[in-house]
Amino acid sequence: MSQTKWRSNRLSQLGSSIFAEVAAWKRAAAESGLDIIDLGIGNPDQPPAAVVRQALSDAALRPDMYAYPAIKSGLPFREQAAAWMKHRFKVELDAETELVTLLGSQDGLAHLAMALCDPGDMVLLPNPGYPIYAASLALAGVESVLMPLREENDFMPDLNAVSDQEWDRATFILVNYPNNPISAVADIAFFERLIEKARKHDVLVVHDLAYSEMGFDGCEPPSILEVPGAMEQAVEFHSLSKSFNMAGCRIGFLAGNKAAVAALRELKANIDYGVFDPIQEAGIAALREAIASPEQPKAGKLYERRCDLFLEALRSEGWLITAPKATMFIWAPLPPMQWTQEEPWNARRISQEMLRQTGVVVVPGEAFGSEGEGYVRIALVEDEERLQEAAKRIGRFIRG
Ligand SMILES: *Cc1c(COP(=O)(O)O)cnc(C)c1O
Repeated sequence: MSQTKWRSNRLSQLGSSIFAEVAAWKRAAAESGLDIIDLGIGNPDQPPAAVVRQALSDAALRPDMYAYPAIKSGLPFREQAAAWMKHRFKVELDAETELVTLLGSQDGLAHLAMALCDPGDMVLLPNPGYPIYAASLALAGVESVLMPLREENDFMPDLNAVSDQEWDRATFILVNYPNNPISAVADIAFFERLIEKARKHDVLVVHDLAYSEMGFDGCEPPSILEVPGAMEQAVEFHSLSKSFNMAGCRIGFLAGNKAAVAALRELKANIDYGVFDPIQEAGIAALREAIASPEQPKAGKLYERRCDLFLEALRSEGWLITAPKATMFIWAPLPPMQWTQEEPWNARRISQEMLRQTGVVVVPGEAFGSEGEGYVRIALVEDEERLQEAAKRIGRFIRG
């Protein structure tokens, strides 16, 4: 791409162009009059609980809620977050020093490398991975070593495949379970091995736990901070976007190691002035409600039902996919195309043709890194009826 005026080269390193391509295919399909079923972006399609909306509304009417949020301490939200971490994971946190509130975990993920690393430093990242991980390193001038997530290793990184020199050089290692896009879940034993390895090489472990409340079949994804001694070695990102259907509110937090939390807080103090107080009040209501009414179904319940239904429908159309244990995503090996093409189609081509012929949007796996080739990611963000319809159309597409 040619360089244009008033545009940094840095911007070209952000994210994958594939998302823009998918958006363009989608526009073209919509213009051709197709009914679009968008299973592309992982945007929750449900509203937050009524108590959360009420808290936001009440707070928005209060005249004392409009100062720069950072002028106040922001402590009530962090205290509520600490109470929730204790309730949910039995993890004890000091709200003053071991938590920082974020404008969504994306905010923290985007800025962490800038707060912890210098240009030329190195970070260990999963491949495939959520796009901001690599983009944040590009912004900070930080290098990466990619750890492939492959089915033969249950989509866990092979910690011993990273050389000792690489471990010694790394500032932090980033992992994400339940995973997006793969929807694999890690057990506490993996986190224990990871913390031990990281301690040996003096590397910080960064865990992105955006899907903690979205386990299926009674699966309760663990926090890495449950590992004894993790507070010396790890930080964990939490998001209210998926767990409490608050994506538009932009609120989350980072919990764990004091030094890393302090570094991110110091950087952010120079960039933004905190989360709008009524949104912090809404966040408090969500976390308080989760503690007070543990019998309420978690956000994952809805996606579990959709997932069961959709996988069954796809199976009857001839596309067999292993059921995920969590998240709102299905990580699907390419469908068995039952008609002859000039040459086998890759994930990008299949996604493009599927959208052009059926109006169903999915994301080619390589949008998340080279190891995503051979897969598509399907987000379960439409209702059951639309998912049934999508499966029918996909079936016709596969059969040609
Ligand atoms: C959605 C998502 C986030 C971002 O969440 P926000 O809190 O809305 O910024 C972070 N990590 C992963 C893996 C996600 O899927």
